[in-house]
Amino acid sequence: MAVDPLEFAALLDGTSENAVADIDTAGAAGATGGATDADAVIIGAGPAGLFQAFELGLLGIKCHIVDTLKHPGGQCAELYPDKPIYDIPALPVCGAQELVDRLLEQIKPFDPQFHLGEEVVELQVREDGRFDLATAAGTRFVAKAVVIAAGLGSFQPRRLGVEGADAFEDRQIHYRVRSASDFHGQRLVIFGGGDSALDWVIDLTGKATSIVHVHRRPEFRAAPASVARMKELVAEGRMIYVEGIATGIRVADGRLTGVTVKRSDGSMADLEADHVLAFFGLHPKLGPIADWGFELEKKAIKVDTAKFQTSVPGIFAIGDINTYPGKKKLILSGFHEAALAAFAIAEHLNPAKKVHLQYTTTSPIMQKRLGVNA
Ligand SMILES: Cc1cc2nc3c(=O)[nH]c(=O)nc-3n(C[C@H](O)[C@H](O)[C@H](O)COP(=O)(O)OP(=O)(O)OC[C@H]3O[C@@H](n4cnc5c(N)ncnc54)[C@H](O)[C@@H]3O)c2cc1C
Repeated sequence: MAVDPLEFAALLDGTSENAVADIDTAGAAGATGGATDADAVIIGAGPAGLFQAFELGLLGIKCHIVDTLKHPGGQCAELYPDKPIYDIPALPVCGAQELVDRLLEQIKPFDPQFHLGEEVVELQVREDGRFDLATAAGTRFVAKAVVIAAGLGSFQPRRLGVEGADAFEDRQIHYRVRSASDFHGQRLVIFGGGDSALDWVIDLTGKATSIVHVHRRPEFRAAPASVARMKELVAEGRMIYVEGIATGIRVADGRLTGVTVKRSDGSMADLEADHVLAFFGLHPKLGPIADWGFELEKKAIKVDTAKFQTSVPGIFAIGDINTYPGKKKLILSGFHEAALAAFAIAEHLNPAKKVHLQYTTTSPIMQKRLGVNA
């Protein structure tokens, strides 16, 4: 399902009047057997995927962008949003989240359709040369071109990492909250020291039967106000806090009944639980891309350096996910690759039409697409 861009950034308020194309984009809004018919689908909303939407937009090509994360920005937004970047051309210093915000502002005129919180799990070539894509959430596309901008892979939650835990995943051990009311009236053990853990500890206190919050060290990554509130709740006797790490789970009659925690002082605690919630952050994993039949080298997809096309015509790979002689995993490289891939995609969509290089400074049609009056 498409996410309303307003949900994640006021930047994207939907300006679609500029969709003037000099190539054939007919059918982009149609449907194919319940699947969305698209000219181009970009897998990954990191800096490379976002800039790909810009370069495609300049050439009059509309696109959909899919990302496992619930927000755009890839590594910049997920791993180092507050850190400065010093090697973006013409920006002597730029915060990583600021870069993402600027990219979102830049692509706003082209109104790309975002599908966030969805992992692309299937990519297949159709007999007609187009591509079938499907997300784990059930969204399907039929696309004329695909750009894989998947970085180091799809961001996945870090697991509890104790023996036997996998068997209870999504039943009694959870790495995300789908429906908070499922935990009302339940005994909970919540792990983690970041905002997600603290937010759920605070939210569920008073609604759950009992809450034990476990974190491995005295320092928290969460907002200081949330940590202060959690400590107040402990002082009021409304929940328990334990500093330690999980060492095992306890099971009876096929059901999880609790977790064993080793406290920082070395003592052990058996904590009763109906559900365990663990928020240890996310890390990238190549995931389904490894099974799509591309030639891989060190977990990266081989491409040519003229079009950044994979071994499958019509499927392109840009940014950290690709490899070629001399490849450097830099944001700058992804931007360059996106520009050349866009020209190749325009040719792929309409082989009969030559795509001429135009400057945004002087091209009336590009300026019309950008919605600027030079
Ligand atoms: C701490 C740190 C500091 C850095 N500093 C710099 C710097 O100063 N300068 C610089 O140039 N670079 C820097 N980098 C590297 C830079 O962040 C990466 O080169 C850049 O993020 C790559 O962009 P990308 O769009 O290719 O991939 P990513 O940013 O990794 O984004 C890829 C996106 O694809 C999504 N995805 C993957 N698989 C799927 C799937 N199957 N379905 C749906 N979505 C999927 C992921 O969830 C992710 O959001 C730094 C990296 C780190 C970790």
